[in-house]
Amino acid sequence: MRRVLTLSAVVLFAAILGWAQTANNNPPKAPASFDLNAIDKSVDPCVDFYHYACGTWLKNNPIPPDQSSWGRFNELHEHNQYVLRGILEKQSADNPSRNSVDQKIGDYYFSCMDEAAIDSKGTAPLKPYIDSINNMQSKSEVAGVLAGLHKAGVNAFFGFDGEPDFKDSKVNIATANQGGLSLPDRDYYFNDDAKSVELRQKLEQHIAKMFVLYGESPAQAAADAKTVMKIETDLAKGSLNRTDQRDPAKVYHKMPLSELQKMTPAFMWNQYLTGIQSPSFESLNVGMPDFMKAMDQVVANNDLAAVKSYLRWQTLRTAAPVLPKAFVEENFDFYGRTLRGAKELRPRWKRCVQYTDNDLGEALGQAYVAEVYPPEAKARTLRMVHELEAALKQDISELSWMTPETKKQALEKLSRIDNKIGYPDKWRDYSTLNIVRGDAIGNSLRANQFEFNRQLKKIGQPVDRSEWEMSPPTVNAYYNPLENNVNFPAGILQPPFYDQKADDAVNYGAIGVVIGHELTHGFDDQGSQFDADGNLRDWWTPKDREQFDKLEQCFVNEYDSFVVGEDVHIKGKLTLGENTADNGGMIISHMALLDALGGKPGKEIDDYTPEQRFFISYAQIWCQNETPQQARLQALSNEHSDPKYRVNGVVSNMAEFAKAFGCKPDAPMVRKPACRVW
Ligand SMILES: [Zn+2]
Repeated sequence: MRRVLTLSAVVLFAAILGWAQTANNNPPKAPASFDLNAIDKSVDPCVDFYHYACGTWLKNNPIPPDQSSWGRFNELHEHNQYVLRGILEKQSADNPSRNSVDQKIGDYYFSCMDEAAIDSKGTAPLKPYIDSINNMQSKSEVAGVLAGLHKAGVNAFFGFDGEPDFKDSKVNIATANQGGLSLPDRDYYFNDDAKSVELRQKLEQHIAKMFVLYGESPAQAAADAKTVMKIETDLAKGSLNRTDQRDPAKVYHKMPLSELQKMTPAFMWNQYLTGIQSPSFESLNVGMPDFMKAMDQVVANNDLAAVKSYLRWQTLRTAAPVLPKAFVEENFDFYGRTLRGAKELRPRWKRCVQYTDNDLGEALGQAYVAEVYPPEAKARTLRMVHELEAALKQDISELSWMTPETKKQALEKLSRIDNKIGYPDKWRDYSTLNIVRGDAIGNSLRANQFEFNRQLKKIGQPVDRSEWEMSPPTVNAYYNPLENNVNFPAGILQPPFYDQKADDAVNYGAIGVVIGHELTHGFDDQGSQFDADGNLRDWWTPKDREQFDKLEQCFVNEYDSFVVGEDVHIKGKLTLGENTADNGGMIISHMALLDALGGKPGKEIDDYTPEQRFFISYAQIWCQNETPQQARLQALSNEHSDPKYRVNGVVSNMAEFAKAFGCKPDAPMVRKPACRVW
C-alpha cells in the first residue's frame, strides 16, 4: 500500500474523441482559470454555491464518450497529454542520434502504438508466465511461481516491497500488504444491494470471457471464473476496508519473519524470497495479518487446479491493457463500461501516452519539464508555498482549543515540512531497463520488473526523501506523512490552478488552496499521528487529542449526511482526511489572500470583490460531470468527497464565505454548527 495522500484520485482519464482521429498534434487551448462563462447567475450562491459557480460549465461540458467523468482536472490532463504526445511522436522516429533516455521513451511509445505487431504476436509473450503456473506439480511450488509473477508486476495475493518503517521512518523495511482483488474494495464482495450483486455477476462473466480469449473452452472458463470469485471472496474476508487502511495502527505490525511463517504454514516464504531475490532481513511489517492468514487458508484449502485458475486470471488481468485488441476491449468492457460508465475506449495514442508516463515517468518527464516548466515557475511556486506555510503558522498559533505544549510540537512539525516543487532534483536512472522497439508486451513486463526490483532494493536501505511518487506531468499533488514533505508536480502548476496572468484572489482560490490542502494533510486525522521526523509517535497532550477528535467528529457527521446520486452516502470517516484538508486549506489560503491584500478590500473585477473571486475560483477547479457509475464508485471506495461537496461542504463552514456573499444566517450555505479544526 502506497502511503501517499493524493489531492484527487479522479485524474486518470482525459479525452475528447474525434480530435484523436486527426493528425493534429497541436494541444487544445490550455484550460482557463476563473471563468465568468461557467457561472449560472440564476442560482443563488447562498443556496447552492457549487451550481452557482459551475452551473453553466456543467451544461456546456458533457462527458466525452471515452470518459467516466469530465472536469477541470481532466481538461488540464488532456492538455498535458497533447504536449506529451508531441514529445513522444518526435522521439519515436528510429533515429540513431537519440540519447538513451529519448530512445527509451520513443521506442516504448512506438511499440505501444504498433497495434498490428501486438495483434500478430498474440499472447505468446505471456506464455512463459502461464506455463509456470500450469506446470506446477504441487502446492509447495506456489510461493516460487508467485515470486516470478510478482516480478512481472502481477497483482496476485499480496504486495511486497520496501517501505519506511512507521516508527523509524529513516529506514526502509520489508513490507507485505494485502492485494490480489479484482474489485476496488473488499466491501464490493459482500454488499448485498442489487447493483453490487449485479456487478459481481458481471465480473464473473468477464473473467470467463478472458479465459475463453486465452483459449479455454466456454464450460471450463465458466467453472474457472466461479473458482476465482470464490478465492477472491475468501481473500476479501481477511482484507481491511479502505477506511480501516487509513488508520496507521491497523496497518503496522512489525514482526520477525519466523512469526509470519508460523502464521502462514501453507506458504513457503523462503521459496518466495529466494524467487524474488530479496535482500535478507529479519523482521518486516505485515500490514494486514488477518489477510495473510486468509491467503494461507486459500492456498491450504483449495486444490492446486483452483489456485492455478486464480493465478492465471490475475496474470491476464495485469497484462490485458497491452495484449491484443480482443483482450483490451474485453478489459474495457468491464473496468471502463460496467464499473465506471464510460461509453468508448480511449483512443490508442492516449493510452500509450499514459503507459509511457506510468512506466518511464521520469524519462518522459525530463522533456516535459524542459518544454513547459522554466526555473522561474519553480521559484514562483516556492514563494507561494512559503506564504501558505506562514498562514498555517499563524492559524496554529491563534487556535483557541490547543494548549501551548501541543502548539509548540505542531509548529515544529510545520517548520520541518520539505517542499518539493515541479520535478526531482535527480532523475531516475533507467539505464538497466531494456526497451526494445517492436516488443510492446515485453517492454511493459520489463518495466514492471524494473519497478519491482527498484522497490525491493530499498529493503534495509535509508529512505531517499528526494524521490517522487508522481511523474512531473501529473495533474495532482500529495503530502507524504512518513517523510513530512509536500510534492507538487509541474503538471498541476498551470491554469486553471496557477495562472500567471490572473489576479491574486484567483490564484489563492485555486493553487493556494491546493498548497494549503497538502500542508493541512500533515495535521489531519492520519497525518497528525506522525511527528516532524515522519515517525508514528503521539506528540499530543491527551486533552488536545480529545479536543481534536471532537472537532473532527463534526466533519464526519457533516459529510456522512451528503448523498451522491440516488442512494449512496459519502463515508464521513473514509473521507475525513481529505475533508479536513479541504476545509483547512481554504481557511489558510483565505488568510494568505487577506495578507496579500494588506488589510484593504481590494478592487473589484467584473463586479466581484477579491474575496468573491477567491471562492468562485476555488469552486471552479471542481466543476465536474460524472457518470452515475463513477459517482458511485468514488463514494464507495475513494478518500475524496464528490466535487459538489468539496465545494458546498467547505464554504458552508466558513463565516468568511457568508460575509463575502451576504448570506443570511438561515441560508443553506450557512451550516450550523459550522465545523472547523484548523
Ligand atoms: Zn488530499
